[in-house]
Amino acid sequence: MHRFFVSPKVLASHPVVLTGDQAFQIRRVLRLRLGESIILLDGQGYAHEAILIALSDTDARFQVLRRGSAEGEPRTFVTLYQAVLKGERFGWALQKGTEVGVSRFVPIVCERNVVDDLDAVEGKRERWTRIIQEAAEQSGRGKLPELAPAQLFQQAVSPGRAGDVLRLIPWEGERDSSLRSALAGCNFAAGARIELFVGPEGGFAEAEIDLARHYGVRPVSLGPRILRAETAGMVAAALILYEARDI
Ligand code: SAM
Repeated sequence: MHRFFVSPKVLASHPVVLTGDQAFQIRRVLRLRLGESIILLDGQGYAHEAILIALSDTDARFQVLRRGSAEGEPRTFVTLYQAVLKGERFGWALQKGTEVGVSRFVPIVCERNVVDDLDAVEGKRERWTRIIQEAAEQSGRGKLPELAPAQLFQQAVSPGRAGDVLRLIPWEGERDSSLRSALAGCNFAAGARIELFVGPEGGFAEAEIDLARHYGVRPVSLGPRILRAETAGMVAAALILYEARDI
């Protein structure tokens, strides 16, 4: 059944009225017929089965039949601090991370990033948000992964988050600690919170790795092969969620 994320405010109206792109997709792409159902997700973990009761050139009206908890969310909360990347590659990292089960994305700007202007990075927010939403609908997520404001690496890596968070920085220079060994002590059953820092095309500077260590962020190897930056975040998140039995 097709799924759409809608704001709780839209969901609160009776009937629920979808407009704009969503109405267009329902009418012209999916060609939904009256009486057919879709799933409306409120982004907070609830899924609403709703039946199409009216369709016009401008909107699609639904009656909610039942509400249940949304499946598709991992118990493990993975935050991916992903260095911004050139071209479409950052959007690709967001899309694949969403499919795999990343819960929060933070764009970061590192020493070797070509783009070092946070405002320029923020200028892509609307496009990136749409990529995340489409990937979340397509992959059956129960919640929309968060896209946090862009940060400089130095800000992002400094501690500040409360609670028990395992913080890891995949680094191709790491020879001793593997991702598997770093996860060994994780209590996944209780719902672990893990932060991943992935560098740009040119990798992390040594000083950035030292700063990460200083703040208790553990360098880990993802194996002997060098992964592209957009591949590394997805692979590391998938391996973590696999260990957690969320995949
Ligand atoms: N220094 C790399 C090179 O020689 O091509 C460039 C960095 S790599 C393209 C981008 C990021 O992916 C790195 O900063 C690191 O976070 C991660 N990464 C890629 N391969 C890795 C590996 N085998 N082990 C750990 N991290 C890796």
